[in-house]
Amino acid sequence: MPHDHHDHDHDAHSLLPSDSALRVKALETLLTRKGLVDPAAMDAILDVYENKVGPQNGARVVARAWAEPAFLAALRADTTATLEREGLLGRQGEHVVVVENTAEVHNVVVCTLCSCYPWPLLGIPPTWYKSDAYRARVVREPRRVLAEFGLVLPDGQAVRVWDSTAEIRYLVIPMRPEGSAGLGVEDLTRWVTRNSMIGTGLAERPA
Ligand code: FE
Repeated sequence: MPHDHHDHDHDAHSLLPSDSALRVKALETLLTRKGLVDPAAMDAILDVYENKVGPQNGARVVARAWAEPAFLAALRADTTATLEREGLLGRQGEHVVVVENTAEVHNVVVCTLCSCYPWPLLGIPPTWYKSDAYRARVVREPRRVLAEFGLVLPDGQAVRVWDSTAEIRYLVIPMRPEGSAGLGVEDLTRWVTRNSMIGTGLAERPA
């Protein structure tokens, strides 16, 4: 994947080559013909991750962490156990750790090796998260990559990059925006964007 970041502002958003979808389709067809996968089972799995599991789950966790001190304390003490009680563990999210943004530290998550991501909380990872450009560059030049997402951090705020693995997935708890004071969990959930839980964005007033 070409990435000359000096004159190219949107590398982190680069999409996979256009023939990827065709290759996936070809593989699926072959596996089905050989009887190795059941298309109905595959459709059922896709339905779960496209329609039932998604960033709304993580957003609710963040909103509760903002609004309920006891829930935040439980997340800090043992994120995985707390999420398990909420029924939010599952494939690709068996061990989760929350990392909290503060005025001093902004957290960003990547998987430099492949594309590890907390599926039960955020759904299927966006294409840019899996791109070579994001994975390689966010650890080397995080501020520049974040700026390409439209996120310019103050100089005084450190950036900490967390490398996900098959063992540990991370959920960023973004800072609660000032304008959200006094809101309850249901309203707060709409302020939490997917990217704010990866660290490539901030929580913001819903459009
Ligand atoms: Fe990975």
